Amino acid sequence: MNNRGKPSFSERMRRFFEGRNGNDALCRALLVAALVPLAASLATPSVWNGALSNILWVLSLALLAWSYYRMFSKNIYARQAENEKYLALKKKLFGDRASRARRREERKHYRRFSCPKCALKMRVPRGKGRVKITCSKCGAVFYKKT
Ligand SMILES: [Zn+2]
Repeated sequence: MNNRGKPSFSERMRRFFEGRNGNDALCRALLVAALVPLAASLATPSVWNGALSNILWVLSLALLAWSYYRMFSKNIYARQAENEKYLALKKKLFGDRASRARRREERKHYRRFSCPKCALKMRVPRGKGRVKITCSKCGAVFYKKT
């Protein structure tokens, strides 16, 4: 370890982030969200003479800038309040950790199929090989591998 003289990189990072908000769930979500318009921008180079691509590019940069602004912000209370709001919204939309875990557990033991005729969703235990499924709503019969 070279600890003489200059502080290490991680030590300098720690000092830089002291008193700043740092990375939180909302920052990470914004970083991921920035990838969406970025990908769309790359996929639409010739739409509206490239104007759409430019708009999406700027949108992506804005999300990225917002994420970094929140990371480096010294108004930690305001940033934490935003993060709480984001987490509450996420919980409302996708459920909390426990219900996500329940769903994951269910996927491990069951497969979901939708009826090819009426699109009714059905749950079939996994590992039963090829099974005949009869739709309980419209009576359609189909085969699926579990
Ligand atoms: Zn059906």
